Amino acid sequence: MSKTITLTLSPKQAADVSYYTSEAARCVGVREDNIALVRVVKRSIDARRSPVKVNLSLELFIDNEPQPEPIHFDYGDVSHATQVVVVGSGPAGLFAALRLIELGYKPIILERGREVLPRKQDIAQINRNNAINPDSNYAFGAGGAGTFSDGKLFTRSKKRGDYNKALQTLVFHGASPEILYEAHPHIGTDRLPRIITNICEQIVRAGGEIHFESRVTGFEIKQGRIRGVRVGDTLVEGAAVVLATGHSAKDIYYTLHRDGVRLEAKAFAMGVRIEHPQRLIDSIQYHAPHRGDYLPAASYSLVNQVQGRGVYSFCMCPGGFIVPAMTSASESVVNGMSPSQRSSHWANSGLVTEIRVEDFAHLEAEYGPLAGLKYQQQLEQLARENGGEGQIAPAQRIGDFVRGKSSTSLPPTSYLPGLVCSRLDEWMPRLISDALREGIATFDRRMRGYMTNEGIVVGVESRTSTPVRIPRDKDTLQHPQVEGLYPTGEGAGYAGGIISAALDGERIADAIAQRKP
Ligand SMILES: Cc1cc2nc3c(=O)[nH]c(=O)nc-3n(C[C@H](O)[C@H](O)[C@H](O)COP(=O)(O)OP(=O)(O)OC[C@H]3O[C@@H](n4cnc5c(N)ncnc54)[C@H](O)[C@@H]3O)c2cc1C
Repeated sequence: MSKTITLTLSPKQAADVSYYTSEAARCVGVREDNIALVRVVKRSIDARRSPVKVNLSLELFIDNEPQPEPIHFDYGDVSHATQVVVVGSGPAGLFAALRLIELGYKPIILERGREVLPRKQDIAQINRNNAINPDSNYAFGAGGAGTFSDGKLFTRSKKRGDYNKALQTLVFHGASPEILYEAHPHIGTDRLPRIITNICEQIVRAGGEIHFESRVTGFEIKQGRIRGVRVGDTLVEGAAVVLATGHSAKDIYYTLHRDGVRLEAKAFAMGVRIEHPQRLIDSIQYHAPHRGDYLPAASYSLVNQVQGRGVYSFCMCPGGFIVPAMTSASESVVNGMSPSQRSSHWANSGLVTEIRVEDFAHLEAEYGPLAGLKYQQQLEQLARENGGEGQIAPAQRIGDFVRGKSSTSLPPTSYLPGLVCSRLDEWMPRLISDALREGIATFDRRMRGYMTNEGIVVGVESRTSTPVRIPRDKDTLQHPQVEGLYPTGEGAGYAGGIISAALDGERIADAIAQRKP
């Protein structure tokens, strides 16, 4: 039997394998050369007080004890199996496809965007302030919004078994095994594209198909049953259709609505990206002027109620970059990401507030269940109008935003297209700006220095979640009106993040197999 122990160490000791191996040997009372393998099973940072400590749980394999098997998944040949159409190659679509293969179905993935490499070029163009390809950008393309994302792998899902399998699947396809034991696993935007490419290759090797630059424009629904989807004039048929198009595919919601497929308005969240110098966040969180050589860039997670409305930080990216995440030139949308080393000079985070269905009720008569989508679009267009040329985004210093003052200059930023001074406190809807301003003032009491003019707020963070739900039957997970149509992932309203979208995709594949189409 292996032995597991937890050591509380300084950051330097926790980074030194030979130090913690001999310390572990001493604690369990064995000679160090009897330890055949030492495996980290959990690592977390305790920064509640100074000095910061690292908790390291280790599994020790002594002498000839059997060691853990390497992670392995078998994907059999499905080239002649029953076809299932999967629309979208984000985490929900890709994990649905992998699971369909495990269950003996052949996934046919239709993806509007381009493969990883050409998509990288399209994204570089967006960062250089050139034209936006509406089908290939930070949201659309191989791997969906997950590919050029931050790659934090967190979920509130209670289904730990599936969660671990999802992490193992990522490791099998090239992610670092560290994600299996870090308390806050993170892949990083520099490593995700390779993993996504490996997953796509795996699907094709097993006999599945992936068609890039294939935007689905219509649904073939006859007598309450879906036969397939249309890509322009071509009909692609399948025994079931998995709809995993993400929350930025506004055209899909409009197409479904036009075809009479029931949709529901839902609450969501919008706000700004907030950016600070990373050294400031490090000094607040680690209670020291510098984080030193052994601690990672510090993060934070803040939440508060402002007049009964939730205000919270979202998708915090230590050592990261703010990125232009719009899908059309008429919008300004920002998001955040970081490389695996989290090495930039900035810390950014979404700072958002709840948007309730009643907040956009005035649009309901005209837009029905798409009223929230319209409300979201109005804010994105407002941000565009208040920004500069191309993807230049509107921004204000944090202190000025809270105090309702103009910023006459802006500090250096990670946002490559550039920023322009703007009164976000004036042009954002009051329900958003007031909640954020009060929220920031409260957060400053918890993290002294958070409300600083060294940092900025950038407009707008509007795509944290979808304002529309595509309903599904709670037992069969199909759309209640359309047999064979399986909405999944973030765009359908059942996930918020890479792992929860991936788990939802797998769940849908299981639901399809249960009905044996
Ligand atoms: C910059 C950034 C950073 C992020 N960082 C994190 C993070 O650190 N951690 C985290 O958990 N989440 C993060 N996210 C969110 C995460 O990426 C999403 O939650 C996740 O990708 C949702 O998965 P999905 O499969 O449901 O949808 P998506 O990933 O949005 O995928 C949908 C896919 O469908 C395709 N599609 C859309 N319409 C059509 C059509 N008509 N025909 C064919 N294909 C279509 C799109 O091109 C896209 O590839 C980040 C997002 C961004 C943009």
